[in-house]
Amino acid sequence: MKRPFGQHFLFDPNILKKIIACGEVTREDTVVEIGPGLGTLTRFLSLYAKKVIAIEIDRKLIGKLDRILAVPPLEKGGIESCRGAGGGFGNVELIQADALKFPYDTIEGKFKVVANIPYYITTPLFFRLLEFKDKVTGMTLLMQKEVAKRITASHGSKDYGVLSISAQFYTRPELKFMVSRKAFVPPPEVDSAVVHFEVSPSPLYPVRNEELFFDVVKTAFAQRRKTISNSLKKFEGIKNALSDIGMDPGLRPEKLSVEDFVRLANALT
Ligand code: SAM
Repeated sequence: MKRPFGQHFLFDPNILKKIIACGEVTREDTVVEIGPGLGTLTRFLSLYAKKVIAIEIDRKLIGKLDRILAVPPLEKGGIESCRGAGGGFGNVELIQADALKFPYDTIEGKFKVVANIPYYITTPLFFRLLEFKDKVTGMTLLMQKEVAKRITASHGSKDYGVLSISAQFYTRPELKFMVSRKAFVPPPEVDSAVVHFEVSPSPLYPVRNEELFFDVVKTAFAQRRKTISNSLKKFEGIKNALSDIGMDPGLRPEKLSVEDFVRLANALT
């Protein structure tokens, strides 16, 4: 059955704590959580972070979450083992909003993002958050395994493509661990993985013209079976650029590292 808003909930405290550990959340941190759902991750985050801003689109869940977060974490059975347990969840700010439209620049100071995100918005959400890369210091996202593999793929792998290069241009993504679909209630149709992204406010590569760089990358992968000299024909001077940097024109795009694409785009500039 298709779930509205991609609602698949996680209850296993070990997985939840492992996600937070990957995010290296400390008492100094403001953490944004996208899609708190029934608040299982939110409650742990509340115990580890200085402040949690939880953005949930579903109005029906907001009322439930208000009640869940009103109960202090004193009961035995999972959450009591958290560092700092014993207070309330008073450091959680619950916001009913679409995470794709939320104005993250209104958040005071820098923040980390830690979330079990709805699959159907993974890519747009990732790029939306990157628009605020001056403020986001890191992201730890539980996402569909296939997308995690594409994001973290190195050149030469079948998963490598525009998404890998775009993600690796601004962040250092690291695939942390897999989560079986059986860990969710109800289980989704795919497995998941946690990816941690170290976010850089400026590009990690010395590209002269970012727009041209992404145009080259997208054009090359639009026809990934073709050689780069063929697929990049529309760029004036491509032959000279390839020869200037000593790159084999017969290569397929998946053989080029991010650095190679940067060298090529710079040679075209
Ligand atoms: N964090 C909870 C957990 O781990 O159990 C729920 C995760 S569930 C995969 C995704 C959550 O994101 C749901 O609560 C869903 O309602 C919410 N959601 C879906 N689309 C959203 C959007 N555009 N903005 C904010 N929240 C959204």
